[in-house]
This record gives sequence, structure tokens and C-alpha cells, in this order.
Amino acid sequence: MSNNNTTTTDTKGRCLVLLPLPFQGHLSPMLQLANILHSKGFSITILHTSFNSPNPNNYPHFNYVPIPDTSEANLCVSSDDVGKVIRFMHDVNINLVDPIRGCLERLMSEDKGVACLITDAQWSCTQSVAEGLKLPRIVHRTSNISSFRSFAAYPASHDKGCVQSISDEETKSKALVPGLESLKVEALPKFHAYDAEVVSKVIERMVQATKRAHAYFATSSSSLLEQDKTSLSWLNKYPPKSVLYVSFGSIVKVDESQFLEIAWGLANSKQPFLWVVRPRSIEGSEWLEPLPNGFLDRIVEGRGYIVKWAPQQDVLAHPAIGGFWTHNGWNSTLESICEGVPMICSPSFGDQIPNARHVSNVWKIGVELEHRFKRREIESAIKKVMVDDEGLQLRNKIIDLKQIASFCLKKGGSSYSSLEDLVNYILSF
Ligand code: UDP
Repeated sequence: MSNNNTTTTDTKGRCLVLLPLPFQGHLSPMLQLANILHSKGFSITILHTSFNSPNPNNYPHFNYVPIPDTSEANLCVSSDDVGKVIRFMHDVNINLVDPIRGCLERLMSEDKGVACLITDAQWSCTQSVAEGLKLPRIVHRTSNISSFRSFAAYPASHDKGCVQSISDEETKSKALVPGLESLKVEALPKFHAYDAEVVSKVIERMVQATKRAHAYFATSSSSLLEQDKTSLSWLNKYPPKSVLYVSFGSIVKVDESQFLEIAWGLANSKQPFLWVVRPRSIEGSEWLEPLPNGFLDRIVEGRGYIVKWAPQQDVLAHPAIGGFWTHNGWNSTLESICEGVPMICSPSFGDQIPNARHVSNVWKIGVELEHRFKRREIESAIKKVMVDDEGLQLRNKIIDLKQIASFCLKKGGSSYSSLEDLVNYILSF
């Protein structure tokens, strides 16, 4: 994103402290935000836990301050267990209050001072710390606003079914917010006298290349795990929109029988697939031990490729990808929309559930599995998205949404303006 000269002058030297939650889906968007704010002229300090600490080499222009931690809480979590993750959030919000306050006091006493603190929404303890220090705090959320509303309704409700129905109503009414249709009728350029197919290809490539130059903040630079780039060379041998990408993010786990249902669903669909299986994401297994013998070579006959962690944004942008079977984490959902890839939805917990409802029922850019992992249903969903006419309709819809997302990121668009507003807001402190 280019610098706005006026803003750069105004912001120069002002220090922002950002405190991310140390999990992939939270860390990447916050470091991207930090990078954007840095491009606006702010100096950036990342306050971080020793657990999953960001690699300073990826963003050498930031300052890094580790939170000194004498408790065990910061040391003992593995991000592949939801229960432990929630526990971690709970514990650090108690154990790290004083160390965080200490770090902030020190930073505020330095020459530049601190203009404001930006923390992940999960760092709830920092609100009172910030108030005590009279330091403005901005909350960074990594999931969408409708899920926030359903979270807000949650404590008042005693059963999950009720929360879900509230969230459905919310998402439905959100879908009717005017604006989407008006953006749809944006005038397209017309070139009557030329070969329509060639013209549309040339325009599409030009638009994609221009948009990437502005909108693409690769998460590869904040990936906590090593990305297996062989996924991309493997994809190169497949025709456009022929491969299903399968990944359930950085936290979701499955048990062995669910894993086998996934494997057989993929095999029986007869479609090529690139499948991310994180080590220890199958209960009781180190990695692929439960897979039937000869699964990739004999049963799938070479149509499948399994990696431990993929360069997801590059994978979704690869022309060979025709569908994304996802858990609907908000980052994955957004990344799929930004690349125009229709989804198969298997949400597991939290905001993934309303996200998946949005994708399948409201935006109609994907299909949701009724039972998360049943091989027959998986097979038929894959065929629906990758082969049938329904898949074509989903693809057309998501291309519309992708266009809308790209408008949001351009000057005058809502995301672009929100960032401008954020900078101006910080400057008003
Ligand atoms: N991701 C990745 N490689 C993978 C799987 C996921 O780089 O093999 C990235 C993905 O691009 C996204 C993040 O990990 O940015 C996952 O975030 P999301 O909110 O979708 O899910 P979470 O992991 O928080 O459940």
C-alpha cells in the first residue's frame, strides 16, 4: 500500500505498541496491520509472549519486546488443542497482567512515548492495564462482526442451539444490507470489436496483477510453521480449476475415524486434491499412520498430495485450484473469497460456524456438510463443487464477491477508508 505523504509527516516517530495473540490466525493479520501502519509512518513495537514469538527477521523494521514471564502459562501450550488454547488465553490474561504493565510503563517513559496500544481482542486483561496507564487501547478482531454479535449473545444463552439461531437471524439481516447489489452493477468496460475471450483474459490478468501489488500482504512472512512449497510445483501439472485444496487451519483436530472418512471421501470423489495434514492433528497419531497402505499411490493413483503445512494464499491463487474444503476460520474464508475459490464448509467451533452459514446460506459461495465427516456426503459435496453445474454457479457468485472485496481495498473502498480512519483516529489522541 502506498504512503500518503501528509499522513507520513503527521505520524512520523509516533510509536504504536501491538500485542498479538500467539496463534497463526491471530498473529498474521496483526503483523499485516502493523506493516500497513508502519507504511503510514508509525514506528512499531511488537509486545509478544515467549511462546510462538514472531521471527524478527521477517519484519526487521519493527522493535520487539518480549513479555517477561515467570509463570508456566506462557510456556506450555500447543496450538493444536482448542481446550488448551482457551486455557492459555485464560491463564495469560491473569499471569501476564503485571509483566505487560511493566513493559508498557517502560515504553511510555522512553523518548517517543506510546501513542496507543493495539491488542488482539483476546487480550482482555489489557483494557484495565491501559486505563490505569491512561493509554488508549484499540482492539483488533480477527473474525467478522456478525460472529462478534453471536459471541455477545452467548453468555445470555444457556444452550448453543439458541446462540446459533440468533446468529442465523443476524447473518440473514446482514446479507440484506444494501450495497452489494449496487456494487455488482459497476460498469464493466466494453470492447465490442475484439475477440471477447482474449479481451477478458487480458483484463483479468491486468486486474489481478494490479490488485496484488496493492492488496497482497503475504502471510508467508508471519507463518509459524514452515510452508511446504512443493505444493505449488505439484499443482503446476494440473489443468485450471481441477484440484481441491483441503485444510482445516492451525488448531482443529480430528479423531482417527473422522480422518479416515475424509481420506475415503477424497479417494472416492476421484478428484485431484492437495491436503494439509498438520502433525499431531489426528488424535493419537504423529502424522499419517492411520492412512490405509498405498493410499496415495494405489488407492488415489497419484491424484493426491499431502503436506504438513502449505503456503495457503499462494495455493488458493494457483490457477489449478477449483475448490477449498475448509473449517471456515475467518482468515481462510477471506483468503478464499479474495481468490474467488468456492468452498466446502466443515466448521468446528466458535465463529467458524456462523462463517460457514454465511458462505453457504447467505453468500451462496459454498456448500456446508451436514455431518462434518461422512465419506458419502464428502464425495457428493466434492462433486457438487468441482464437477456439477452447481459448482459453476458457486464460482460465478464468488467471483462477484471477489470483485467486491477488491473494491473495498482500493482508494475510496471501505477497507481502505477504515485504515485511513484508524490512522486519523490514532492521531487524534
Ligand atoms: N495456513 C497456512 N498454511 C496451511 C494452513 C493454513 O498458511 O497449510 C494459514 C492460512 O492462510 C490462514 C491461517 O493459517 O491465514 C489460518 O487462520 P484461520 O483464521 O483460517 O484459522 P485458525 O488456524 O485460526 O483456525
